[in-house]
Amino acid sequence: MSERVLFIDYARCIGCQACVQACEECDTHKGQAMIHLETIRRRDSVQTAPQVCMHCEDPICARVCPADAIKQTPDGVVQSALAPRCIGCSNCVLACPFGVPKYFAEIDQMMKCDLCYDRTSIGKKPMCATVCPSQALSYMTNDEFERTRRGVALNQWVFGEGEEVRTKVSVVVPRGRDRVHVDLIELGGRPKVAEPDDVAALLSEDD
Ligand code: SF4
Ligand code: SF4
Repeated sequence: MSERVLFIDYARCIGCQACVQACEECDTHKGQAMIHLETIRRRDSVQTAPQVCMHCEDPICARVCPADAIKQTPDGVVQSALAPRCIGCSNCVLACPFGVPKYFAEIDQMMKCDLCYDRTSIGKKPMCATVCPSQALSYMTNDEFERTRRGVALNQWVFGEGEEVRTKVSVVVPRGRDRVHVDLIELGGRPKVAEPDDVAALLSEDD
């Protein structure tokens, strides 16, 4: 049986926050959601887009961690920081191109989505995909995806002028693309960051 993976279809997100509520109830990080919704083109639209850890094949969060606190499982899931190792420096928070790791000052530690590894490692869906009523978050094999969905699933990203990232999680985009380009913006001399509106370009109105 082929491996099941998480697919994010931004165009299906109805902003109900069920994924956020379900994530908050997870035993390993009770009370804190490790998923959030981006609001896209806030001025013109109420469209939202769920953001989880994309589980990069070569995770920069782990590469920049001076305490070697972020581990990757053999099946490619990037874990939350190991509590005894994390020194709360926030390097990972700054380095992640998807804005995923969160620093929690009260415990001086980073936490992030670990794809509900307690569930997915034994064949269950992650909590978010279990509750999403519109299947904006879905967990299935590539074969199932191709049989049931109209868009194309991509997991290759290009940030700015050439930072290439390949992820375990895929996003659904209109057919005809082979990678997702994300433009970066410069904010008052600070490092360039991803422009949230770029997600809007991925919304498949029709295909
Ligand atoms: S999306 Fe961010 S937090 Fe997740 S593996 Fe990639 S770099 Fe790390
Ligand atoms: S905050 Fe913790 S996990 Fe993140 S880079 Fe610093 S030590 Fe590593």
